[in-house]
Amino acid sequence: MAYTVPKLTDYSAESLLKTFGHAKLALRDELHEVTSESEWKAVRDRWMARKNGVLTQINDQLRTAPKDAKRDFGQYLNELKQYVSQEIEGWNRFVENAPGGLAGSLGSVDISLPGIRRPIGAEHPILKTSREMCAVFQRLGYSIAEGPVIETDYYNFEALNFPPNHPARDTQDTLFIAGQSSKPQRERLLLRTHTSPVQIRTMEKIRPPIRIVIPGTVHRNDPPDASHSPMFHQIEGLAVDTNITFGDLKGTLDHAMKEFFGSSVKTSFRPSFFPFTEPSAEMFVSCFICGGSGRRESGPCRPCKQTGWIEILGCGMVDPNVFEFVKDNGYDPRKVSGFAFGMGADRIALLKYGVDDLQLFFNGDVRFLQQWA
Ligand SMILES: [Zn+2]
Repeated sequence: MAYTVPKLTDYSAESLLKTFGHAKLALRDELHEVTSESEWKAVRDRWMARKNGVLTQINDQLRTAPKDAKRDFGQYLNELKQYVSQEIEGWNRFVENAPGGLAGSLGSVDISLPGIRRPIGAEHPILKTSREMCAVFQRLGYSIAEGPVIETDYYNFEALNFPPNHPARDTQDTLFIAGQSSKPQRERLLLRTHTSPVQIRTMEKIRPPIRIVIPGTVHRNDPPDASHSPMFHQIEGLAVDTNITFGDLKGTLDHAMKEFFGSSVKTSFRPSFFPFTEPSAEMFVSCFICGGSGRRESGPCRPCKQTGWIEILGCGMVDPNVFEFVKDNGYDPRKVSGFAFGMGADRIALLKYGVDDLQLFFNGDVRFLQQWA
């Protein structure tokens, strides 16, 4: 129904707010009903015509308004004028840009005009790195598995052999969801600190043997700087079967690194500790930037700190305690064994593309991102 301008008697701030608010809603309703250009023109004329248009009628009331209300009234009116022209012109732009159907039926398309140029997006360098790394494992028969970013304490810690109050929890600066203290600890929600909960979730659903890679975002309470971010990306892997050995782990990861970084890289495993693997190791690859020499033509090689080796991932044999949590689905630690590994996609992207500041990946500067388009 067409809007009629009410005769104002109450000029209080509250009444003005209400009146002008009603006018805006009425215009939106009228535009909502519009289906053709002639209907649109009718709405435009009713609201914007100099002679007796809605805006003019309201303007006339400004003249008769009491002195002390004129300033507020004027401000509301200006704002309404802007709103009306924006909404009405905006609808017109929408019609002009509409593909085929609506605009075509209005007969307003000038086919001699250049088309609308839509910038073509490109894969973000971190997602590209992640996808390429996952593809290496997919060619080995691994499947992609994914899981929620908001996790329970149980999946993020307990079932991965981080018992409550275990000091290993302190190494992961966890972001907890507020207002959870009334829940039992294992049900409390947090932002997952690693992609490892997906290991448990997948083992709960799928019986052995399994081979999965898990890409995804994780969060930790790390202030952003050149090499840290409160949000970053991991790629995790898990293989479980009968008779999986540390030899399988080394062979698989050595092959994957040669596929990803080039056949000349070497791998080196050094003992480490993670609660969910035993034994655990950190894996280094020979520096693919300086060829392992620690030096470049321009001077010392910074990415490998002149050691010739770059730490890429953590790995190990799945701790039997982890299998205990999914024992009922066929993961009897006396019958199956497996290995797991996890790496940071962001760090690998930094190294691969020679970027020296992690924040560049996340601050959305198109000039930076266009280099990968
Ligand atoms: Zn190097």
